[in-house]
Amino acid sequence: MEPNSNSKLPIIVVGAGAVGVATALALRRRGEEVLLLEQFFIGHQRGSSHGPSRIIRYLYEKERYTQMMPNAYKLWAQLESEQNVKLNTKCGILNISSASRKQIYTEILSKNNFKFTDKIDDLPVKESEEFGYVLEEEGGVLDANLCVRASFEQFLKLGGKFMDGFKLKDFEDDGTIVTVNSEDGKSVQGRKLVLACGAWAKKILAKTGVEIPLEVIKTETSYWRVKPEFTAGIIDVNNQETGDIYHYYWTPVKEYQNLIKISYHGTYRDEVDPDERDDPEKDSKDRAAKQLEDHQRVIEMHFEGIDSSNPVIVEPCMYTVSKNGIDSLKNYFKNTPDNDFVLDAHPKMKNVFIGAGFSGHGFKMSPETGEILANLALGEENSYDMSFFSLKRFEKSV
Ligand SMILES: Cc1cc2nc3c(=O)[nH]c(=O)nc-3n(C[C@H](O)[C@H](O)[C@H](O)COP(=O)(O)OP(=O)(O)OC[C@H]3O[C@@H](n4cnc5c(N)ncnc54)[C@H](O)[C@@H]3O)c2cc1C
Repeated sequence: MEPNSNSKLPIIVVGAGAVGVATALALRRRGEEVLLLEQFFIGHQRGSSHGPSRIIRYLYEKERYTQMMPNAYKLWAQLESEQNVKLNTKCGILNISSASRKQIYTEILSKNNFKFTDKIDDLPVKESEEFGYVLEEEGGVLDANLCVRASFEQFLKLGGKFMDGFKLKDFEDDGTIVTVNSEDGKSVQGRKLVLACGAWAKKILAKTGVEIPLEVIKTETSYWRVKPEFTAGIIDVNNQETGDIYHYYWTPVKEYQNLIKISYHGTYRDEVDPDERDDPEKDSKDRAAKQLEDHQRVIEMHFEGIDSSNPVIVEPCMYTVSKNGIDSLKNYFKNTPDNDFVLDAHPKMKNVFIGAGFSGHGFKMSPETGEILANLALGEENSYDMSFFSLKRFEKSV
């Protein structure tokens, strides 16, 4: 094989969830030939990027994510204008926490000049002196289904290539060309490969002798009936002292009229195999009962106007959480994750790159994550401290 014989080959991106599509689009925007591969079809519901809503916000206790948000907001706005679609509904996020955590929040918001207020009189919340309340005004809701669809349409519009029904089985990198083989015997070649396989990343990387401490956990989003007069908003209860980390959104989403979405940022379950997510044998009645009881307790503690008798709809999703043993959320995830992303080169294959471990919070900045992965694949510098996202950080804990 001639040294430069790969120059006409595309960059292959595997996985058409939020991160894979964003990466494919970022590369295509730069004029690269890109082939995006997906085992199912665009917009499927077996991964982590589906559903009507995801929180978007600046506020993070870890500055590395706050730093990614200005560009992420810009890229979502650019996509809205390119595809002529509304993706981001700015409705504010009310953070309910302990008083001491409120102090931390207001410091971060002030330091970064993000708009916030203590005035929450119009919100359907039962106020209590026990808690701190701060409303982040730029916070909002992304329509997740539409976001993935719009990124994908933009990618196609710019000439990107897509194959669905391509389930990656294995791949090899001969140093110049990467060959990707599917379960049903198809084979494609590229000059680089970016793996954005969500909950499947750990299984796929293990085949190449790379063990990443990622844990895949099934989580459930439930929708509860609210009084019709609720207007759009998000409430984020982060009461780590009692173990309550919940997100509530009641949004003007077309198909979920008069329902509030409740997500618990954590798990009541053991690790799952993403190919067996919905196997009833792997579940227990005790888990479902405990989850229902907790949801009802938190609703009754903080809200006015939600019918807490039972959820109307329950939808499954998966978190892929990185484990590093040093995180403040350690009480809430079984295996002490660090919740940080993995954005790095494959340790054994120089033309292969990995985006994984988005730990239940990776949607909002996915366009910027796509830019970072595109930089990695093209050998360009990233302006962030990439050590937080590196595979090396696991060396001390695995
Ligand atoms: C309930 C819930 C609530 C969340 N809330 C928020 C929030 O409010 N804000 C926020 O920012 N983030 C949130 N997140 C996190 C965010 O949604 C995820 O971090 C993000 O969607 C992950 O995207 P991904 O592309 O890595 O994974 P996925 O969407 O799972 O995409 C991976 C893709 O790879 C494909 N694939 C896997 N293996 C193969 C293979 N062998 N061959 C071909 N294709 C393959 C899969 O089919 C899939 O399409 C939430 C997540 C969940 C589950």
